[in-house]
Amino acid sequence: MTKVDMLIIGAGAAGLAAAQYGARSNLDVLVVEEMAPGGQALLISDLENYPGFPKPVNGFQFAMDMQKQAENFGAKFMTASVKSLKKEDNVFMVETSKETIEAKTLVLATGAKHRHLEVPGEEEFAGRGVSYCATCDGPFFKNKKILVAGGGDAACDEAVYLSKLTDTVVLVHRRDRFRAQKAIADKVLNNVNIEVRFNTVVKEIKGDEKKMNRILLAKTDSDEEYEEDFDALFVLVGSIPQTQLVPDLEKNEAGYVKTNDHMESSVKGLYAVGDVRDTLFRQLITAAADGALAAHSASAYIDDLKGEAYI
Ligand code: NAP
Repeated sequence: MTKVDMLIIGAGAAGLAAAQYGARSNLDVLVVEEMAPGGQALLISDLENYPGFPKPVNGFQFAMDMQKQAENFGAKFMTASVKSLKKEDNVFMVETSKETIEAKTLVLATGAKHRHLEVPGEEEFAGRGVSYCATCDGPFFKNKKILVAGGGDAACDEAVYLSKLTDTVVLVHRRDRFRAQKAIADKVLNNVNIEVRFNTVVKEIKGDEKKMNRILLAKTDSDEEYEEDFDALFVLVGSIPQTQLVPDLEKNEAGYVKTNDHMESSVKGLYAVGDVRDTLFRQLITAAADGALAAHSASAYIDDLKGEAYI
């Protein structure tokens, strides 16, 4: 059985930073990820707000470099999915699709997945006009008429990305102003290729056997409903934290894992970082900082277990 000091579940920016900091502190670090390392960063075409990169950097390249940096310090990576985990005495037993791993500490960096609108037609037309990622699917809809739903940073950022592919982007948001950061929202409001419709929601997605082609929209401040032709719908209405592995951890009302400033969860030796964590601001830089803090805390905890803590 593989035994490690720190097992990190998830290789987004938070998990990769924890791997780098953990390995650099001489811990035996293993990162388990079921997909390609990188997490949400993989979806960013031009990363322009990570300090130290005055020119936009491609998110995929950024993630590859983070992984390489962690590997340079000795972190190991395994492609597998985690089936279950439990704490026995002072160690975590983690069952993966490849093998069972024993870990002194665990870093939960499982992120969050896209929230759906849950309206008729959404499931039926997913992948046939309905998408949850503009950088992945946007290029299929060059010069087409695109609808974006959402009012946060993701919806605004991705609407701007789509506006470079077509001059007809309509963005609907259920409220009368954006949740997005002002700088990001302003890029939408000042963009001639984006028409913003506040107080508007998607009620139904319609189409033929091949693809979606029409959307029923409704105003939230009146009874008005109308149908309009669109070639694609990008649903960017937030995310759902991936906490299925840890049903017993303490969470906030929205289901994000509660931690203290040291990234410690309600279970000793188990840290939560990045998008799965209850935090005010979800950015690559905050995810990376979470990872660094978790590794630091894990290292101190292991010293404590060994009776080597510096008190
Ligand atoms: P978010 O901030 O949670 O925003 C989700 C948006 O979708 C909200 O405006 C919400 O409306 C709306 N919404 C939720 N459920 C809906 C529904 N069923 N129907 C219609 N609208 C619905 O999520 P996000 O934009 O994905 O961002 C997630 C995190 O990543 C945030 O912390 C964000 O700062 C970060 N992020 C940052 C950047 C960047 O800095 N460039 C880019 C992307 C994401 P209400 O406002 O009414 O709740």
